[in-house]
Amino acid sequence: MTTSSYTKMFKQLQSKPLKLKKYKKHNKPKARSFGKDSKPCQRCGNLRGHIGKYSLSLCRRCFRQIATKIGFTKFS
Ligand SMILES: [Zn+2]
Repeated sequence: MTTSSYTKMFKQLQSKPLKLKKYKKHNKPKARSFGKDSKPCQRCGNLRGHIGKYSLSLCRRCFRQIATKIGFTKFS
């Protein structure tokens, strides 16, 4: 019973309400007010490679994809 996401298990445990309750109690991710887990990418939801400069709130991969569309130019 391992998954990449906490909410993915809900579907499997729908038929077992008590197991679902126990799962929610013990596996709920901690709510973060600061740190890397508190700043997801606004486009894809990724938590790594965050760019907050100029209030972008994007991950580096999404920034590379849409940089020219939002007005950035590459010089080298
Ligand atoms: Zn992204």
